[in-house]
Amino acid sequence: MGTNEAPVIAAAGDAQTTEMIDGFHLVIEALKLNGLNTIYGLPGIPITDLTRKAQAANMRMIAFRHEQNAGYAASIAGFVTKQPGICLTVSAPGFLNGLNALAHATVNCFPMILISGSSEREIVDLQQGDYEEMDQLAVAKPVAKAAFRVLHAEDIGVGIARAIRAAVSGRPGGVYLDLPAKLFAQSMPAAAGRASLIKVVDPAPAQIPAPDAIARAMDLLKSAKKPLILLGKGAAYAQCDADIRELVEKTGIPYLPMSMAKGLLPDTHEQCASAARSYVLPEADVVVLIGARLNWLLSHGKGKTWGGKGHKDWGGQKFIQIDISPQEADSNVRIDAPLVGDIGSCVSALLAGMKSGWTKPSAEWIGAINDKKTKNVAKMAETLAKDPSPMNFHSALNVVRDIVKANPDAMLVNEGANALDFTRSIVDLYKPRKRIDVGTWGIMGVGMGYCVAAAVETGGQVIAIEGDSAFGFSGMEVETICRYNLPVCIVIMNNNGVYKGTDVDPTGRDPAPTVFVKGARYDKLMEAFGGVGVHATTPAELRKAMEEAIRSKKPTLINAVIDETAGTESGRITSLNPSAAKKN
Ligand code: ADP
Ligand code: MG
Repeated sequence: MGTNEAPVIAAAGDAQTTEMIDGFHLVIEALKLNGLNTIYGLPGIPITDLTRKAQAANMRMIAFRHEQNAGYAASIAGFVTKQPGICLTVSAPGFLNGLNALAHATVNCFPMILISGSSEREIVDLQQGDYEEMDQLAVAKPVAKAAFRVLHAEDIGVGIARAIRAAVSGRPGGVYLDLPAKLFAQSMPAAAGRASLIKVVDPAPAQIPAPDAIARAMDLLKSAKKPLILLGKGAAYAQCDADIRELVEKTGIPYLPMSMAKGLLPDTHEQCASAARSYVLPEADVVVLIGARLNWLLSHGKGKTWGGKGHKDWGGQKFIQIDISPQEADSNVRIDAPLVGDIGSCVSALLAGMKSGWTKPSAEWIGAINDKKTKNVAKMAETLAKDPSPMNFHSALNVVRDIVKANPDAMLVNEGANALDFTRSIVDLYKPRKRIDVGTWGIMGVGMGYCVAAAVETGGQVIAIEGDSAFGFSGMEVETICRYNLPVCIVIMNNNGVYKGTDVDPTGRDPAPTVFVKGARYDKLMEAFGGVGVHATTPAELRKAMEEAIRSKKPTLINAVIDETAGTESGRITSLNPSAAKKN
C-alpha cells in the first residue's frame, strides 16, 4: 500500500460510484477537525498506515524510539497548549509502554489522549491467543480519567469527541481510546462519514464560582494578618496569566510558586517569597491555594513545614483553595473557603470583590519576609560565586542561571534528584509555562520526551538540565531530537551515578547499584546521530557550549563533569527514603 494513496476509495459495482472513506481517514479528519494536528507516537501493527496517512494529510507525525517517551511528549504538549496531546501506539506492549505516560497525565492533570491499535475483539475476549492479545480497555481504565473503544467507523467522530471532552473539561487528565485493527479498514460512504464527525463546541467550558463562595473567600482574605498566595501548575495551565499577576500585585500578598508555576510572574518579582519559603509557610495565617494540591509536595498542609508542633499537627493556617475539582477541598486539612471553578473565572471574581475595598498586608509581614530573602539570597550568592574544581552542582548551575536569564523564552526541562532540586532553587524563570519537570510523582524519564514536545509545540529553544541517571531513562531519543533537527541543548550533570558516584559493593564483586561507568562520555551519544557533543569540565567551558548551542540552534549535548562526591541521598526528599528517614 502506497503512502500517497488517495484519501477516498470507490465502491465497486455501483452504477453510480459512491465516494467512500475508511477508518484511517475518519480518525485523521476527526482529529484535524478539532484542531489536533500533531501526533506523538511510534508506528507498527496495526497503526503504521495511520502514521503514514496522517503525515500525508499534513499532520505533524513525530515518531519516537520508545512509546513511553512519545507519551510523555503528548502529556506535556497538553500542559503547554491546553489541548489534548495525542500519543499513538501499537497494541499490547506498545500500549503498555504508553500507559505509564497516560497515568502520569492523569495524576498531573494534563490533558492527553492515548490512542492505541488493538487486536480483534472476538479473539481477545475468548482469549484465543491473538497477535499481541490484551484487553487494553480494561487495563487502561484504572489509570485514565476516561477510556473508550470504538468498534464501528460511524462512531469514530463520537469516540474522538468524547475523548477530547473528557481530557480537557473539568480537571484535565489522560484519556484512553482503543481502536481495534478492523476499524481502520472499515469503510462507509464519505458524505455520511464526514457528517458523523463532531467538532467539539466549547470543550473546556468556563466554570463560574458561586457568589457566596467568593464572598466567603474575600471575608477570610480581608481578615488575614499574614496572607500568602501559593501558585500551582494548575494556575500555569489555566492561561490566565494577566489576571493572576493583577491579583498578586493589587492585593500586595507575597506568593510562592510551585515548581511548574515558576515564571507565572518572574521569579525575581519583589513579592516572590521563594527565597523565604521555610519562613512563610509556617508563619502565614491565611493561604490562598491557586491550582495547587496539598499533597506530599506541600507536606499535606500540616506538620513542621506548616508550623505544626508535632508531625501530625496542623499549623493552624486557614486555607482558601481555588480548584476546578470540587472533591479537592478537605483532602488533607480543612479548607475554610473552597472556591470551585476555573482559575480564570475565580481570580477575576476575586479581583471584582476587591473593588469594595482592600488593605495591603502590613509592612511588618512584608518586611520580615524581605529580611529572610535578603539573608538567604546573600548566602546563595556566596555559594554560587565559588569555583571549585571539579565543578559542583552550584558552579554549573550558576552558568545555567545566567543563560536562562538571557534567554527567557527558552523552555526549561528538568529532571534528576540533586540536578532537579538545585536547578529548581537556583535557576530563575521569567515567563509562564517555561519550566516543565518531574511533576506530581517526582518521576525520572520525562526528559527527552518533554524536550521533543517543548521544541515542537513552541518552535523555540529548549534547555534540559538532566541528572545522569534521569537522562538514561529516555536517552535514546537524542536520535529523535537529531532526526527532527530540534533546537535542544541538553546538559547532563554527570556525577557518575544516582545521587553520588562514590558507592561501592561491600563484597567487592560488582559495581554498587547506584553507580555508573566512571567518566562516561554522554556527549559521544549525541555525536553518533550528527548532533553536537561537548565535554565540559569547567563553568567557562559549559557557558561557551550553551551559548554556542543556542546561537546555532543545533541539537547539542553537554557532558558537564560534576564532582562525584557532590549530591545528597534522594536530593531533598531524603525523608521519604526509609533507611535515611530512620536515621533522622
Ligand atoms: P502543583 O504540583 O504545582 O502544586 P497540582 O498538580 O498539585 O499543582 O495541582 C493542580 C491543581 O489545579 C489540580 O487540583 C487541578 O484540579 C487544578 N486545575 C487544573 N486546571 C485548572 C483550571 N483550569 N482551573 C482550576 N483548577 C485547575
Ligand atoms: Mg502539587
